[in-house]
Amino acid sequence: MSDTDRTPAPSRGTSLWRGFLKRCPKCGLGSVFARYLKPTAACRVCAEDYSRIRADDFPPYLTIVAVGHIVVPLILIAEDRWSPPAWLHLAVALPLTVALMFWFLPRFKGLAVAWMWLLGLSGDENQGADAGD
Ligand SMILES: [Zn+2]
Repeated sequence: MSDTDRTPAPSRGTSLWRGFLKRCPKCGLGSVFARYLKPTAACRVCAEDYSRIRADDFPPYLTIVAVGHIVVPLILIAEDRWSPPAWLHLAVALPLTVALMFWFLPRFKGLAVAWMWLLGLSGDENQGADAGD
């Protein structure tokens, strides 16, 4: 029996925060990912399997919403205050957008995986539901 087997289950908020930090929602010590966006087949600390969880389009959706709500107001504020030329908007906004997307995407995927893990979902719940119709 490892130490993680004796520790109480984390709260929902703790598990979600651990997921956002790309940590294992169960123990908080291992990584939830084997690679950049690939959930691990076994947490290195508690051996929890996250490879069966498919978050699909939810993490990119959250990423687009978050990055859009950061970059678009900055563009509008810059336009209102300094009216920079379009090339300067693009030179600043495009790299910022790409950097923020690469930063947020694994965090929102970790959050989605943690949320699905808490709910006992894998993402395959509706697969084949229309087959009998
Ligand atoms: Zn773990």
